[in-house]
Amino acid sequence: MLNFKSSSVVFFLTVILCGALYYFFDVSLWWLLVPVLFFKAAIIYGSATIQSNFHIDALCSASTDKKEIAITFDDGPNAIYTPQILKILADHNASATFFVIGKNIADNEALLQQIDTAGHIIGNHTFSHSFFIDFKNKKGFIDELNQTMAAVYKTTGRQVRLFRPPYGVTTPNLARAAKELNYSVIGWNVRSLDTKADTEEKIAKRVISQIKPGAVILFHDTSAKTVNVLKQTLNFAKENGFKIVSVERLLDVKEYEI
Ligand SMILES: [Zn+2]
Repeated sequence: MLNFKSSSVVFFLTVILCGALYYFFDVSLWWLLVPVLFFKAAIIYGSATIQSNFHIDALCSASTDKKEIAITFDDGPNAIYTPQILKILADHNASATFFVIGKNIADNEALLQQIDTAGHIIGNHTFSHSFFIDFKNKKGFIDELNQTMAAVYKTTGRQVRLFRPPYGVTTPNLARAAKELNYSVIGWNVRSLDTKADTEEKIAKRVISQIKPGAVILFHDTSAKTVNVLKQTLNFAKENGFKIVSVERLLDVKEYEI
């Protein structure tokens, strides 16, 4: 399996091989570029692709024949769009998971409580969601996760244990922090790209075309487009016999410590 550990071992062995070939057979040291470039490419791909399980095992979908799917929202709570999304979910009797950014909880405490009392699950999406978050060390990630955990606990009494890495990017330090704090890392296998400039039709088509049993859909409760795409997605699910279930049930994970 291609992961950080196996790639590092292969890299180390090929560097030794290049050294031996240089020493015993006068083979050019330029061949060292081959393992260096492969290792670099593996790290870039593995870090940017949460489904690769490169740095940490992430649950991205369920392997099932049952027509069950889960819907997730990142980056809220958002005072404008989260209430609209909660209303649509309630109308369709569907439950979802909200991976919240800790700093967004301030002034939106009632909204977070509303998510909880409506029966949806709250997950951790770090406190700052900073663009440079992936440069943090293990302690930096632990602080990010603990700050959000504390804010959610103070507002809802829930101790979250599901974590979605910002941008879906993973690093060795993020993996160590998540493991130490006993989080289950949740990815996705249907990316809506609902924050991009595409039209609602295009986003809805992209989502609907990828729906299959066990799918986990990634949305953001931060845009008007998502509200309409969600309606279309839920209608499609209903018409085609797909049931919307929580990630906890779909992926068989524990959502809260208490
Ligand atoms: Zn995010």
